[in-house]
Amino acid sequence: MIQDNLKKVQERIHTLDKNQQVTLIAVSKTKPASDLQQAIDAGQCHFGENYLQEALNKIEILKNQDLIWHFIGPIQSNKTNKIAENFDWVHSVDRLKIAKRLNDQRPEDMDKLNVLLQINIDNESTKSGILEDEIDGFIPYFENFKNIVLRGFMCMPSPDNTEKSFKKMAEILQKYPNFDTLSMGMSNDLDLAVKNGATFVRIGTDIFGKRT
Ligand SMILES: *Cc1c(COP(=O)(O)O)cnc(C)c1O
Repeated sequence: MIQDNLKKVQERIHTLDKNQQVTLIAVSKTKPASDLQQAIDAGQCHFGENYLQEALNKIEILKNQDLIWHFIGPIQSNKTNKIAENFDWVHSVDRLKIAKRLNDQRPEDMDKLNVLLQINIDNESTKSGILEDEIDGFIPYFENFKNIVLRGFMCMPSPDNTEKSFKKMAEILQKYPNFDTLSMGMSNDLDLAVKNGATFVRIGTDIFGKRT
């Protein structure tokens, strides 16, 4: 089941991904390690998790396999040390305090932690993320952070505005030649995201089924 789903999602991506730039992240929150193992057996190596303790359990169970872990959920500052020690990417950085803590807590003997700024692209009061206008104010601080590297942006647009917001996000990325990463697209808007310049798509439901 999971393997068939994964294949279908990969095919959807392939058909639209003209520049072959999209990497699929399997979002496995609330799903057991055995589900992830099925995806791994089908060749999947990027996994996204939202809840730290749950993620750490799975990372421990699956530690002998060559996987790339993405933290995509809201970040409380008392959780940054475990995130810095156990993940390869963090998509949900929206405060400087969090970026600084991740930098200070990333072990020096690990590769730099890849981070994305979460952008509240439709200025929604219910969503976290920084506003488009605030981006330029954030970026200079990252020059002082030696253990993390800012690679680009993540967004979750409003459902009424999806394609326009994906396009806008891709235009914003163009303004920053040092950045190469745009994390956008979930099960419901995967196709639009791939068409409009995503480099990571984050797919949960369409791979693992509905969450309870
Ligand atoms: C849960 C989640 C996803 C996956 O959503 P689906 O609709 O299940 O594909 C992607 N990104 C974030 C930030 C999430 O929290």
